[in-house]
Amino acid sequence: MRSSTPLQNAPGVSGLAIQLQLVRESFSLDVSLQLPAQGITVLFGASGSGKTTLLRSVAGLEPQARGSVCVGEEVWQSDEAGIHLPTHRRALGYVFQEASLFEHLDVRRNLMFGLQRSAAPHEQRVLTDAIELLGIAHLLQRSVGELSGGERQRVAIARALATRPRLLLLDEPLAALDPARKQEVMPWLERLRDELQLPMLYVTHSVEEMTRLGDHLVVLEQGRVKRSGPLADTLSSMDTPWVEPQEQGVLLDGRVVERDQSWHLARVEFNGGDLWIRDTGATVGSQVRLRVLARDVSLTTQAPAHTSIQNHFEACIEADQPDAHPSQRLVRLRVKGRKTNPETSSVVLARITQRAWSQLGLATGQSVWVQVKSVALVG
Ligand code: ADP
Ligand code: MG
Repeated sequence: MRSSTPLQNAPGVSGLAIQLQLVRESFSLDVSLQLPAQGITVLFGASGSGKTTLLRSVAGLEPQARGSVCVGEEVWQSDEAGIHLPTHRRALGYVFQEASLFEHLDVRRNLMFGLQRSAAPHEQRVLTDAIELLGIAHLLQRSVGELSGGERQRVAIARALATRPRLLLLDEPLAALDPARKQEVMPWLERLRDELQLPMLYVTHSVEEMTRLGDHLVVLEQGRVKRSGPLADTLSSMDTPWVEPQEQGVLLDGRVVERDQSWHLARVEFNGGDLWIRDTGATVGSQVRLRVLARDVSLTTQAPAHTSIQNHFEACIEADQPDAHPSQRLVRLRVKGRKTNPETSSVVLARITQRAWSQLGLATGQSVWVQVKSVALVG
């Protein structure tokens, strides 16, 4: 292999730079992506949009994929420079929908298998960390056949981490699990996201997984990148045709600042304001992510009084547009934060009727009161 200076990333730059083209008879992939060095990048798209093909191409499993793949300063592929590392020389972990564990080995031996393939077999420490991170120490002696679906996936992820990857690829890792098992695995994925300095490409077509786990979002459509950007920013734009209207809404990152034990409520402060949510036991000071759906937000032109809706704040109408259905209008609002710069404070979306929009005489630039009927805690 020729030695070469990195082509996409300058020295010290640690993100992922992916430029790939692949042509099949009835499908073509053509993407150019610059992605963050850590956290979860969700690859979102309909079935057949090329998510798995993209992951396989990054892994070097699609020989006909042309272009370049750089992970930090490592060049895994550069057709220009004649570089094409085989899969086993790309420091990656790959987790599939169905954990491909060795059924005849116990959990410990499955994990050891991963370790023996890694660059530094003596580093038992890496494996110990992975076992701790995924909370599977109590499963080590179990045979693989005795694991639940969720436990299998945790073992598969730990095995992938034991090879000390520079990049973790996860292809619909929860898709084969029932809803309860899914809920059981999600906190472990959140933990990976928050504790590892490792970029992860996470394929899903579930909005729930996207909103709960993602930091960055890439939307694929027919092998092309429709959108790539920080998840919260992308969701707060009004142009998200790849999300069902009833799922349209914003994410707010916040912090629990107060718990009202007598009413079982907790107050979460976000950039621009605060919201009361159900108290789920999150301690004061902990970071939480809230999801506010457009359909749960209504507007009034006066400070609300005598209402059962507990969450309201002032905001400025920043933009509005007709919605998919002619009776509805989508409105984008900038929260009038007391303590924050109004230009950078949070955004919420509201879906109201055209009739209400007209009868209240609403217009872009106007100040209104936002009432939030329901807030979901997503992580
Ligand atoms: P996704 O993971 O988003 O569902 P895929 O990457 O699996 O999409 O597939 C993208 C397109 O490529 C689809 O049209 C699919 O039918 C096609 N495809 C996938 N694998 C192969 C293959 N091995 N040979 C030919 N076509 C394939
Ligand atoms: Mg797929």
